Amino acid sequence: MLAGIDPSSLLKESFMTTRRSFIQILPLAGALALCARGAMAADAVAVDPKDPQAAALGYVTDATKADKAKFAKYAAGQACGGCQLYQGKAGDASGGCAIFAGKKVSAKGWCSAYAKKA
Ligand code: SF4
Repeated sequence: MLAGIDPSSLLKESFMTTRRSFIQILPLAGALALCARGAMAADAVAVDPKDPQAAALGYVTDATKADKAKFAKYAAGQACGGCQLYQGKAGDASGGCAIFAGKKVSAKGWCSAYAKKA
């Protein structure tokens, strides 16, 4: 035993310091996780209309260019930005889509899975 120092108090102090440090870095870790998530969303690749899945659904980056003969359900005014499956925020030029996981679609785009936002 060190003269005048209780070993149990050292352990207790060490534990308290560790816990305090952990609590101090917790908000930083959360902020970093949010940044990483934001960076991933920003880095998402745009859906290529020629991609087999996109082509099968008639995806176009400009809704006005939808193949109206093949996809009769298209109606003027429909676009990804107004679709229930669109995950971008209002005003964003592009955003995620539940159909094309991990990729971005144009807010002005369209595909035959379009479902009007409620
Ligand atoms: Fe756009 Fe909706 Fe089709 Fe996704 S499902 S590509 S948001 S129209």
